[in-house]
Amino acid sequence: MLRRPSAPAPWPGGVGPDHPCARCGEFTRGIAIGGRCPACERAVRVKAARVARLVAIGTTLPLAGYVAWSFPVDRTARLVGAASVLLWYALTFIVARRVALEWVK
Ligand SMILES: [Zn+2]
Repeated sequence: MLRRPSAPAPWPGGVGPDHPCARCGEFTRGIAIGGRCPACERAVRVKAARVARLVAIGTTLPLAGYVAWSFPVDRTARLVGAASVLLWYALTFIVARRVALEWVK
């Protein structure tokens, strides 16, 4: 009987591969190569949200100032202005968080 060339099993244990976390180096079962462990994933999300909030506030404040200064002093115009500022803040926050998640380490 011919012996097969002994190749090391790619995943010893057969449960799933351990990969080092791309951020802290902790070997974690079930994460992708270059992926992050749950703790780092959470930390990165918190950080991205903080960056996004700064970006959103930084762009919303000038807009709010512009709206307050240029819109006519009229109840409807004020409401529309306030609503668009809030909408702008929410959209900027969502987009900035999405972008920040890509490069926050
Ligand atoms: Zn980690």
